[in-house]
Amino acid sequence: MNANSILQDANQFLMPTYKRQPIVFTHGRGCYVYDSRGKKYLDFLGGIAVNALGHAHPRIVKVIRREAARAIHLSNLFHNCYQGPLARKLAEWSGLDRVFFSNSGAEAIEGALKLARVYGRTSADTPGVAAPKHRILALENSFHGRTFGAVSVTATEKYRLPFAPLVPGVEFVRFNDVADLESQFDDTVCAILLETIQGEGGIYSVSEDFWNRARALATENGALLIADEIQCGLGRTGRYFAYQKFSSKPDVAVVAKPLAGGLPLGAILTSEAVAQRFSPGLHGTTFGGGPLACATALEFLSVIEDEKLLENIRTRSTELREGLSALAAKFSFIREIRGEGLMIGIELSIDGAPFVSEAMLKGLLINCTHDFTLRLLPPFLVTRAQVRQFLRLLEQLFVTTPQKAPALEPAKSAPPRPAALAAAR
Ligand SMILES: *Cc1c(COP(=O)(O)O)cnc(C)c1O
Repeated sequence: MNANSILQDANQFLMPTYKRQPIVFTHGRGCYVYDSRGKKYLDFLGGIAVNALGHAHPRIVKVIRREAARAIHLSNLFHNCYQGPLARKLAEWSGLDRVFFSNSGAEAIEGALKLARVYGRTSADTPGVAAPKHRILALENSFHGRTFGAVSVTATEKYRLPFAPLVPGVEFVRFNDVADLESQFDDTVCAILLETIQGEGGIYSVSEDFWNRARALATENGALLIADEIQCGLGRTGRYFAYQKFSSKPDVAVVAKPLAGGLPLGAILTSEAVAQRFSPGLHGTTFGGGPLACATALEFLSVIEDEKLLENIRTRSTELREGLSALAAKFSFIREIRGEGLMIGIELSIDGAPFVSEAMLKGLLINCTHDFTLRLLPPFLVTRAQVRQFLRLLEQLFVTTPQKAPALEPAKSAPPRPAALAAAR
């Protein structure tokens, strides 16, 4: 294998959608990945919240081997052995009743938005024309994916503005602002969509007040509360679903990233009543819910239970938070530590990108989102020793990385507001 020719091909033939690091990763094992020169990295990014069991988990590898030799794809015109049992397990975990499988997070968001529009429609509405109840509320600073519907409910301007006109009928509510939510909610709203913990936006948790009010307003107005748990769900917080810290459930929950151990798979979960608004032919997918992905997902969920990983997530999270607080006391450019479980943001008052590059040189993978927030999404099976190793590496990084001039931005417990959104009202 020649890393230079791989990089050359990539640079010449791939569309320029990513500013990739000039490194070729070849394989991984547990919480470590290896590059083409054999260098080892501690992986605290986990393929952006996908590799929750790290790499090459023996049970995941075994299932993929076994099922690949049986059937990779059948068809949703028939049943396969795993889609029904996986749906049952997700229903048990979530407290919701029915499931639709897709291939990705964005695609699951698309299906949830379509479900909301169908839900808002009555038999009195004219087919093909916007129903009176069609408005979708999403939150400022949100991220829901890259397809047209998903980008229409994504607030970040650089992701949406170049593609206008987007799907109509979407409005944004200020993050955790109950008054703003109340002022925009009425019976023309068919859904309020939120990430229970905003991921890409910099690790911001929806408040209990905001959740409770969104839940109540959705119920009063006959709208759906949709929780995007693509990044924060399926164990990441130390609970099966992030919303399980609240006393109420959403009408719809959307999951994807870690669901099938790294294979592409997403899912829309919903209540019986809402699910019945779909009927045969109204929504579908060729690949979604295939036997290989569903068998692997079932194994993923079983490993979380069998290896008691929710407990591990909570314990490691406490250790990480303690270590990070100690670092925050030493380094004045650390403004805030946010997050839950193994979804943690370290907000800096200075540019975070140099730390990400420097970390790679030191054999550590982390991510920076929204310029100032270092984002940690380590595998659920990260050990105490690996947390210590991480904290040691991070401290070295904070000492040795050349720092750019401090930014003027103050510390924020609420996400920043883009100028155009603020001006639009
Ligand atoms: C990653 C992500 C998505 C998009 O999922 P894809 O599989 O990349 O389409 C949507 N919402 C959230 C919260 C995400 O983290």
